[in-house]
Amino acid sequence: MKIAVCGMGVAGSYLMARLKENHEVVGFERMTEENHDSICAWGSSKSKMQELCKKADIDFEKYIIHDGKNLHIEINDEHKFDIKLKGLCTYDKIRIIRDMIKGCKVHYGVTPKLSDLERDFDLIVDATGFYRMYLPKPSNDFYLPTYQYKIEYENKVPMDDFYVKPFRGITGYFWYFPLSKNLAHIGAGDYRKNHVKETDEFLKKHGGKITKTVGRPIRLATPDRCEPFYHGKVVGVGESIGTVYPLLGEGIIPSMICADIFIKNIGNNEKYRKEVLTYFAIYSKVLKFVLSKMKGEFSFVKQFVDLMSIFRYMKKNEDRFGMEIHMRDLVKVAKA
Ligand SMILES: Cc1cc2nc3c(=O)[nH]c(=O)nc-3n(C[C@H](O)[C@H](O)[C@H](O)COP(=O)(O)OP(=O)(O)OC[C@H]3O[C@@H](n4cnc5c(N)ncnc54)[C@H](O)[C@@H]3O)c2cc1C
Repeated sequence: MKIAVCGMGVAGSYLMARLKENHEVVGFERMTEENHDSICAWGSSKSKMQELCKKADIDFEKYIIHDGKNLHIEINDEHKFDIKLKGLCTYDKIRIIRDMIKGCKVHYGVTPKLSDLERDFDLIVDATGFYRMYLPKPSNDFYLPTYQYKIEYENKVPMDDFYVKPFRGITGYFWYFPLSKNLAHIGAGDYRKNHVKETDEFLKKHGGKITKTVGRPIRLATPDRCEPFYHGKVVGVGESIGTVYPLLGEGIIPSMICADIFIKNIGNNEKYRKEVLTYFAIYSKVLKFVLSKMKGEFSFVKQFVDLMSIFRYMKKNEDRFGMEIHMRDLVKVAKA
């Protein structure tokens, strides 16, 4: 088939690498080639990334920047604890994206018109992430604003490992993700819109030189709230159809899994739709929990069953999440 892949983020670039053998694929990216970057904290977990990248002939190990040992959580001054990590790392996300599309035809600095794409291609993939440029609006969208700096530290870095500070009522969180020895991503996303203030407060307290400032909304609406997944010749893959784990705002692995499901069902949109809805069904429960916390409506008694199924899912997938999962930690977060 002649396939247009719009958006060279994690989902689009992974699709290019996986589809180029058997199809004629052409990529389109809104950013110019020189400015092409990935607005993300670049955190993911090793074992699942290794498995997914291997299918695209990419050795994930070569891209790891920081291999985490502990995730420091600070709920407030009195409540701080560590989660032991099992593979959570930061990696050079833009370098992998570039390597995945190496040798492919990609047009940079363009947003092609849908009518032109429809004329020239058999299939159009909307991998434009939050912007969802080529599909109708999601049926029941929900997203948070985010803000992030890349910081260069002159001497000592303020944190030795991953650090997260959830905001009251888990309306969002602040993150510090280590990159190389003297670099880190610091940023936040917040329903109550304190994300810029919290990021600036950390910067003021710990110093460092801003080398990059980015921000964009992150879609937390899960796939069941992002229909339609396909329309005419267009099919959505990745964050465009809501593949972000809502408790963590983690979208890299879910978007690649979504691309995997797409490849498996290419040409059969309804089968793809059903498989996405089934695979990501648990995400809807997670979003329900997150929304009830954000709105101050969470009840341990009423939502105990949901909380248990979230715990069981994460416990079973510790390697996939890259961290040890304990009920006591989930309860601490639920109480935050
Ligand atoms: C600040 C921030 C930090 C994050 N940190 C993490 C993290 O540490 N770990 C994690 O797992 N997830 C993280 N996420 C979420 C994760 O980055 C996304 O969910 C994931 O990258 C989605 O992949 P995607 O390919 O679907 O979309 P994107 O990565 O958003 O890629 C979409 C691409 O499409 C391009 N594009 C947009 N519009 C058009 C258009 N009209 N025409 C052509 N191209 C277009 C964009 O420029 C971009 O290159 C973070 C998100 C944000 C906002």
